Amino acid sequence: AYLDRIAEVDGDVRAYLHLDREAALAQAREVDERIAAGEDLGPLAGVPVAHKDVFTTVDMPTTAASKILSGWHPPYDATVTARLRQAGMVILGKTNMDEFAMGSSTENSAFGATRNPWDLDRIPGGSSGGSSAAVAAYEAPLATGTDTGGSIRQPAAVCGLVGAKPTYGGSSRYGLIAFASSLDTPGPIARTVLDAALLHEAFSGHDPRDSTSVDAPVPPVVEAARRADVAGLRVGVVRELGGEGYQPGVQQRFQESVELLESLGAKVVEVSCPSFDAALAAYYLIAPSECSSNLARFDAMRYGLRVGDDGSRSAEEVMSLTRAEGFGPEVKRRIMLGTYALSSGYYDAYYGSAQQVRTLIKRDFDAAFENVDVLVSPTTPTTAFPIGERTGDPMSMYLADLCTIPTNLAGNAALSVPCGLAPEDGLPVGLQIMAPALADDRTYRVGAAVE
Ligand code: GLN
Repeated sequence: AYLDRIAEVDGDVRAYLHLDREAALAQAREVDERIAAGEDLGPLAGVPVAHKDVFTTVDMPTTAASKILSGWHPPYDATVTARLRQAGMVILGKTNMDEFAMGSSTENSAFGATRNPWDLDRIPGGSSGGSSAAVAAYEAPLATGTDTGGSIRQPAAVCGLVGAKPTYGGSSRYGLIAFASSLDTPGPIARTVLDAALLHEAFSGHDPRDSTSVDAPVPPVVEAARRADVAGLRVGVVRELGGEGYQPGVQQRFQESVELLESLGAKVVEVSCPSFDAALAAYYLIAPSECSSNLARFDAMRYGLRVGDDGSRSAEEVMSLTRAEGFGPEVKRRIMLGTYALSSGYYDAYYGSAQQVRTLIKRDFDAAFENVDVLVSPTTPTTAFPIGERTGDPMSMYLADLCTIPTNLAGNAALSVPCGLAPEDGLPVGLQIMAPALADDRTYRVGAAVE
């Protein structure tokens, strides 16, 4: 049914980069055989899933939506991919994204933009926009994404879906093509909080192949999603994430969610996190710095594309031609920004001070969580914007992640849950729920209570 739905609507939505109908059907038959043989595969057996094209898949190409990886077939599965295969999930295909997960609209894909199923002239969010569009258009019941600065929560919010950024280290980065390694976090995109929790639990947990993986039990997110109550819970509204500059309909739906939480028995207070004002600036030094280091591996020798290698050119010339043609403009912008921020003479002023801001943000969270159980804010300042509106203005594009970035810098958990449609444009609005590291279950508990 999902393959038929994809055939019907993906020409318009363009959520997928790679599809293999026969391979998907073969996987489904294999799962049937495993079940028939008595294997207990758990609750997701036979459920189809779409993977963001940043997770390696041994049986499908993986491009991170970059030309530089075209033609590359990974020799191994990412841990997320492998664990979901083990759980009996069937891979429908690989979804579109901003190139190397850099962007907020999926317009930075080298293979064309994905469209928001709510309004095909609008962006589906990004960078996991193919995954959010696929789930929103009923082209997949569940999808994986990655969140470095908001790339799961923001697309989930603007497509009317649930998306979670797990605690950093709670889900494995093994086989995830790196953007900013200290921030990158795999997570689920789904239609309901319980669906998201089931996927979250299925791929999370300690992985010795990822040096930053946390060796701790997976937070009981499924149980929390089923519990779905907030009586007695202390909820903090972050003063710095709201008000001026936010779309009125977003602000209105957020206010209503806060009132709903109160009516369900939560104790709501206002909380100030003053360093959050500097989060965006710090992120746009730290993320590009790590990206410039991570993307040095695309040297024309090891992966995918190689341009101008006709015997007449040096390795350096081939590398230069390959990178010039293989990387898109946003990726080049980030590599230049990051190389600059890391260069001697500028390191302390830029990268060093950004790291200090990162510590201040972590302290703001720690102080807030001494008095409240969860923090809430709108997930995004606006609803889905029209395709093309922000492509000429990187700064306005970067603002889409204003509310989500602090959580990535601090490494804690957050979830976005739909909270109605903005009256002025009829488009979905997201409520963001943030919790301390390894308390992911709290975000699910609150999310399930208000969805
Ligand atoms: N939009 C942010 C960026 O462009 C975040 C991306 C992400 O979370 N991968 O960097």
